[in-house]
Amino acid sequence: MVRRPPRSPLFPYTTLFRSAVVAHRLRSFGVDQVVEGVGGHGVVAVIDQGEGPTVALRADMDALPIPETSGLSYASEIPGRMHACGHDGHTTMLLGAAHSLAGRRRFRGRVVLLFQPGEETLEGAPAMLDDGVLDRFGIEVIYGLHNLPGGEAGTMRVPDGAALASSNRFTILIRGTGGHAALPQLCRNPIDTAAGIATSLHLLQQEAPPGIVLATTNVTAGTGAYNIIPDEARLEGSLRFLDPAAARSVTSEMQDVVSAVAIDHGVTADLTIEPLCPVTRNHPVQAAYARDVAGRLMGATAVTEGEPLMASEDFAFFLERRPGAFAFIASGDTPPLHNSAYDFNDEILGLGASYWVKLVEEGGGI
Ligand SMILES: [Zn+2]
Ligand SMILES: [Zn+2]
Repeated sequence: MVRRPPRSPLFPYTTLFRSAVVAHRLRSFGVDQVVEGVGGHGVVAVIDQGEGPTVALRADMDALPIPETSGLSYASEIPGRMHACGHDGHTTMLLGAAHSLAGRRRFRGRVVLLFQPGEETLEGAPAMLDDGVLDRFGIEVIYGLHNLPGGEAGTMRVPDGAALASSNRFTILIRGTGGHAALPQLCRNPIDTAAGIATSLHLLQQEAPPGIVLATTNVTAGTGAYNIIPDEARLEGSLRFLDPAAARSVTSEMQDVVSAVAIDHGVTADLTIEPLCPVTRNHPVQAAYARDVAGRLMGATAVTEGEPLMASEDFAFFLERRPGAFAFIASGDTPPLHNSAYDFNDEILGLGASYWVKLVEEGGGI
């Protein structure tokens, strides 16, 4: 059962947070500094307690281009947009932590709260980094948190090492010879090659070792006319992996498949792989610290290392530059992430906020 308290009048945008609302809330909590417009619509707040470590906590704020079908009274009122990944819940948890940290002030050093836009496109974290967020605010260590449907609500996972996969886009451009559909013997139909390559990649996926997934996701070919064999076809897909060394052998097999099918069909085919986001790799010291803190909050048996996910997170870019850890908090029986009926389980809000507060008040893992 997913319960949700009545919304504050300060949140007129039923499911879509706006940076200005977040900034307004932070100021009302008495934080020491609020900076808007960091990396686009990002908001940064600082609570300063003088000498000591500078610990950053990051929440993402963005929604997804999905029309909400939950039918709930508080469903998104923005057509074609909804919080299907729970980033509204993440924002609320970090606001809750801000309220508590700024009110209690039971820590040394500084806490920097990052409210990040554009996670789903993997562009928000790089934008905040390009805006110098780490050096401007003196961030020494950084933590992230994401809800995860399934499991017992409130239990947590903090993997050592890889927590989420890297994301890469592959593109295969096939150049054949087009012509009249009545004369296929005079053509080199690139659609036949695209079909052969897509089938071979599917077999490669089925045989891939754990920690590697690939999927063809777009096929583009043809002029729209039924009687023209086109000159070109284009395949696009996603390649995700946890271990770059293991991925190298799969990418070389992909290249072999593309070349072999193209040669067989007498056409050319070029494979390019574009890295979008690296592996989200937790630092062992901070991952262990996060598990300790969560264990004291929820009970040691409620916190595990758990398995990494094959989804991706632009939090990876922060962890490439600063030590830290990304954690998952189980949200129980809700529809899956990115599903049009998804609903963030508000029962975990208090626990998530308490985890943030405890991470800072117990020293920050530095
Ligand atoms: Zn998402
Ligand atoms: Zn998400």
